[in-house]
Amino acid sequence: MGTSLLEFDGLHITLPVKGAHRTVIHRVDLTVPTGSAVGLVGESGSGKSLTARSVLRLLPPGARVGGDVRFDGSSVSAMDPAALRTLRSREVAMIFQDPRAHINPLRTVGDFLTEGLVTTRGERRGAAEARASDLLREVGIADAPRRLRQRPAELSGGLLQRVMIAAALITEPRLLLADEPTTALDVTTQAEVMAVIDEARVQRGLAMLFITHDLALASAVCDRIAVMYAGSVVEQVPAALLYDGSCHPYTRALLASRPDPGAGAQPLRAIGGRPLSASEAGPGCAFAPRCPAAQDLCTAERPLPEPTGEGRAACHFPRLAHEGAPGTDRRTRHV
Ligand code: SF4
Repeated sequence: MGTSLLEFDGLHITLPVKGAHRTVIHRVDLTVPTGSAVGLVGESGSGKSLTARSVLRLLPPGARVGGDVRFDGSSVSAMDPAALRTLRSREVAMIFQDPRAHINPLRTVGDFLTEGLVTTRGERRGAAEARASDLLREVGIADAPRRLRQRPAELSGGLLQRVMIAAALITEPRLLLADEPTTALDVTTQAEVMAVIDEARVQRGLAMLFITHDLALASAVCDRIAVMYAGSVVEQVPAALLYDGSCHPYTRALLASRPDPGAGAQPLRAIGGRPLSASEAGPGCAFAPRCPAAQDLCTAERPLPEPTGEGRAACHFPRLAHEGAPGTDRRTRHV
């Protein structure tokens, strides 16, 4: 593990709703070391995307942010406009789920790719286009000169996401924020696009915060996994230990609800109940209404993240996969 490039230190976010402020991120403590990939996993509405957007201060109007987000040691909330511009245009690049929503449909692919280099870096258009062509070829788009002249409507979703990846790489950032980059694609294209991102990231030694609801995909391309629930990171674990070393009941429930190709016609296992939002969670553990290991303490007191071997979990009664009975109190067990 390298030094920390990105650090979330007690991140807390509220948004204005009908005259009051509602909590949307309760607490995120997380680090992304230089050159490493961290997967941020959880159900829809758990706060993954807002966490990523806080890195670039791209939050909805009226958002109040507590705690700190630091990039390379500098607090993002304390950055002046010039530093924030540098962060957004050079240091950190974002890949969104739906490229069509983030690429101007009236401009050509070439304009989209080269605009930043020409306007903020003062590069000559010819040099910028040559670089854009090289990147299109690198992300697997043939006939790059023709593609540069096309408009987004002329490209498939898979090709457009490759253009988005090229746009993210063109400024040579140090950190990629990839927000469900393959969710909107068909299964075959998903695998191809994920391979392009992974290869480009590893070759360049980029750090990545990879947001997904797909635990298996995250564990395949990331070094470390952070699981979010109701606006909090509830567990962090090395990706290699996810299946056998994670011990938060929510993580275990997510793993147990994955489709099993060998299970024949068995019905899928689902997590009972419904996910709570951060603002609905009471004073105790937000997962308590759905947790098979919940005990009285769980509804009375919110658990804080504590070490669990090579990971951390916010649970009063964490348990490993091979431990049978629910509820082994962390304060008496050895991990
Ligand atoms: Fe379950 Fe209690 Fe742990 Fe929450 S703190 S996940 S309710 S065991």
